[in-house]
Amino acid sequence: MSNQYDHFKTVPETSEEPGKKKKKPKLMAVVDEDNCTGCQVCVPFCPVDCIEPVNYEKYEIPIPPVQVRFNECIGCQICAKVCTKLTWDAIRMIPTKEFEDEYGIDVG
Ligand code: SF4
Ligand code: SF4
Repeated sequence: MSNQYDHFKTVPETSEEPGKKKKKPKLMAVVDEDNCTGCQVCVPFCPVDCIEPVNYEKYEIPIPPVQVRFNECIGCQICAKVCTKLTWDAIRMIPTKEFEDEYGIDVG
C-alpha cells in the first residue's frame, strides 16, 4: 500500500434535482422594498442563497432593493432576523398560504 496521501478522494454524488425543496415551508420571506436599502447584509446569511438584488432595469437606481426567489426560500427566517437586528427591518415572514393567496403564486 502506498503511503502517499490521496488528495482526490471521492466526493458525494450530486442530486439530480439540486435546489429543490422537499416540502412547502410554513413561512415565506417577503422584502418590503420601501424599507430595503439594498445593503445586502442579509444576502450571505441565507442558507440557500436565494436573496438577490432586484433587476437594475426595474427602478434604475444605483442601489436597488433585494428580492427573495420564493420558489427556493425555505422559510428559515434568518434573513428577517438579520435585517431587523442589523439594518432596516425590511423583511416580513408571511404564512405561505396567505402569500400564495395574496399573490396568486404556488411556491412549490
Ligand atoms: S439586510 Fe434588510 S435592508 Fe439590507 S438588503 Fe437585506 S432586506 Fe434590504
Ligand atoms: S427565510 Fe431563510 S431561506 Fe428564505 S430568504 Fe430568508 S434566509 Fe433565505
